[in-house]
Amino acid sequence: MKIAFYDTKPYDRIWFEPGARQLDFSIKFHEVKLNEDTAVLAKDCDAVCVFVNDEVNKNTIDVLCQLGVKAVLLRCAGFNNVDLKAAKDRIHVLRVPSYSPEGVAEYTIALLLCANRKIHRAYTRTRDFNFNIHGLMGIDLHDKTVGIIGTGKIGQMVMDILRGLKMKIIAYDPCPDPSLCVEYVSLEKLFCCSHVITLHCPLTKETEYIINRDTIGKMRDGVILINTSRGRLIDTKALIEALDKKKFLGVGLDVYEEEDAFFFEDKSNEIVTDEDLVRLTSYPNVIITSHQGFFTKEAMEAISTITLENALELSLGKKLTNEITA
Ligand code: NAD
Repeated sequence: MKIAFYDTKPYDRIWFEPGARQLDFSIKFHEVKLNEDTAVLAKDCDAVCVFVNDEVNKNTIDVLCQLGVKAVLLRCAGFNNVDLKAAKDRIHVLRVPSYSPEGVAEYTIALLLCANRKIHRAYTRTRDFNFNIHGLMGIDLHDKTVGIIGTGKIGQMVMDILRGLKMKIIAYDPCPDPSLCVEYVSLEKLFCCSHVITLHCPLTKETEYIINRDTIGKMRDGVILINTSRGRLIDTKALIEALDKKKFLGVGLDVYEEEDAFFFEDKSNEIVTDEDLVRLTSYPNVIITSHQGFFTKEAMEAISTITLENALELSLGKKLTNEITA
């Protein structure tokens, strides 16, 4: 099995090379992302291995199919960057459905605590020997209401941790899980009652811009908003407008709707011209990180193991456990 590996970072090699050697797979690592122009690099390969910001649209899939590539191996859970309709009956799409939801949940809480208590600002202040705490005040989370949007694997783990903080938990999910000890409410109620709102739903047509001018308007003043799911769940322009009006006590973002051009890359020597990103990073009550919620040792181990198992099933002509179809 020959795999063209796109958007390679040093840590990908560390985790994928030993597993590939064991299975006698050959991996060609490319630093570029997959798109319709770079798809040719997969010539003579059986599969491409891609991450969250590779563009697996119809044009890319057309090129891959012309080259005889048999599968797209997503080394992530989300697949909003893949045109599944274009892939149907032409190329297999396999993913890693779960790889340490615990890690993403823990990271969500880290962002919440940081956005609330302004730890990101305290860190830079004390490094500069500025020991003033003015502007760093947060709220007690104890007894406050947290609204969870999406009670799947990560949402459930987040709830488990928040119970330890003695927060009151309410949730919205179109497919409520009756086995969970949580009060499901309408989105409307979740928006108006929550002191903290955290997003754990996938990006779909229904959830795109679920946080918009209208829904932000329904939220309490001084709400804390956390997004570790996908950037396009939030209409950034509406968020900025509301931040300007001092709507939020804190905002923690691990994802951004235009992240493809920036996240996972070092842009520190460049002039960043994305005005929304620049504006967002300028707010003292906003913390942005570049899609690192998944990034734990355990998750990387699971991602490499499951991705290579997916490739192995393909090469042996076995049933594809983690195939996704339109
Ligand atoms: P999951 O599939 O287990 O759960 C998603 C839940 O969202 C499901 O319960 C589903 O019913 C619900 N949902 C679907 N449509 C909804 C809607 N319109 N409103 C509210 N809820 C809705 O997924 P998961 O493993 O918990 O992951 C959640 C998301 O986290 C993923 O889709 C992915 O975008 C994101 N993620 C981010 C990172 C990171 O590094 N930041 C890592 C992994 C996953």
